[in-house]
Amino acid sequence: MKTQIKKSWAEPYRMKMVELLKMTTRAQRQKAIKEAGYNTFLLKSAEVYIDLLTDSGTSAMSDRQWAGMMVGDEAYAGSSNFYHLEETIRKYYGYKYIIPTHQGRGAENILSKILIKKGDIVPGNMYFTTTRLHQELAGGTFTDIIIDEAHDPLNPHPFKGNVDLTKLDKVVKKYGAKRIPYISIATNVNMAGGQPISMKNLKELRAYTKKNGIRIIHDMTRVAENAYFIQQREKGYQNKSIAQIVKEICSYTDGATMSAKKDALVNIGGFLATNEWDVYEEARNMVVVYEGLHTYGGLAGRDMEAMAIGIVESLDDFHQHARVGQVEYLGHKMMEFGIPIVQPIGGHGIFVDAKAFLPHLTQDQFPAQTLAAEIYADSGVRTMERGVVSAGRKANGENYYPKLELVRFTIPRRVYTQAHMDVIAESTYNVFKQRDKIKGLKMVYEPKYLRFFQARFEKLG
Ligand SMILES: *Cc1c(COP(=O)(O)O)cnc(C)c1O
Repeated sequence: MKTQIKKSWAEPYRMKMVELLKMTTRAQRQKAIKEAGYNTFLLKSAEVYIDLLTDSGTSAMSDRQWAGMMVGDEAYAGSSNFYHLEETIRKYYGYKYIIPTHQGRGAENILSKILIKKGDIVPGNMYFTTTRLHQELAGGTFTDIIIDEAHDPLNPHPFKGNVDLTKLDKVVKKYGAKRIPYISIATNVNMAGGQPISMKNLKELRAYTKKNGIRIIHDMTRVAENAYFIQQREKGYQNKSIAQIVKEICSYTDGATMSAKKDALVNIGGFLATNEWDVYEEARNMVVVYEGLHTYGGLAGRDMEAMAIGIVESLDDFHQHARVGQVEYLGHKMMEFGIPIVQPIGGHGIFVDAKAFLPHLTQDQFPAQTLAAEIYADSGVRTMERGVVSAGRKANGENYYPKLELVRFTIPRRVYTQAHMDVIAESTYNVFKQRDKIKGLKMVYEPKYLRFFQARFEKLG
């Protein structure tokens, strides 16, 4: 049974160590962002005051996790931490076979290579950068089957991560189930703004895929945050615990890739899970080539121990209430200032609608990239672009032009305080007041893959 929770989301922990931050002047920040080619990924972290670049690997570990690091069993083969991790994943997520990987994309690489053949189609509830790239590198083509509401930043649909089963059925009819190795389902869809999929939708999808003999592969990077929204919003789940809901979600899927750097509260780690022996067998062969032996997959024993403990902590109802509560606090503050943000407020961050914020810029002038650079210069708050730069180019070289042009304010778990949230909202409002004067950017260097990480820009005009 779910434990009773008060309305306030105050943290279920206290601090026993702090990390001092470096304060900078506006002149220093302007120089720094120019030198970084107006790409917040190229800033040095020492130049940043509040770092909202990502929630990936940036969480604060608990004292128990740190204690777990001290019982790292650094045996090359058969580390006891691996068995603890395996047992934890089986118990809480319910998947049968587990392969640790250095992070999420390590699992994506192996799984895509095993399941996808040249010419295959992979439908999914919105793309994710690394996930789609691995699908493409394996010869597949990603097809978006998320509901239309997910592409509309203001649509208040409570489950914008849902699959449109009519869209899916069209894809299946057009290409045939044989060319669809699996459906790629993310929980709490990152690129839609941290938006959940409902249990009802997932059950319907399971029924459909059973009938058509298609797998569901679960990108479970933010499954606990998704479970929190199901508990809050979906009929019949109010009295279930996050742990129960997570286990039910996983039960409707055939395998998973996980970046444990998000929900699972570790700084590095991930895994591949499957219920199919054949897939496991092949993955066990392949992990040796790309990551390391199947009982460590590119991780130290201590990393696997911290992950096993983090998984359990991530399923605590009070933890998720405080986690999402803090994100919602920042979102409401932004809305009070009239700043256009994606709604409903998502699980892992606030997504500011850069097209609405800077309506005088065309998408070719990179509104979200521009806004992220302006916010950094104002206060030292580091955010990131999720728009035309992140979307990259199609195989034929044309740009993807996503409908959503967003700046992501990603909140690390258990790291910042409510006062930090106030500073972030106030700084964004400060930039908002002067938005008419803001000029766009032009791209002067473009890497071949995942260009948002290292692209460089110059100010227009
Ligand atoms: C971060 C992330 C990944 C990739 O995981 P890494 O650990 O960064 O390699 C995959 N899917 C989603 C939804 C993510 O957020």
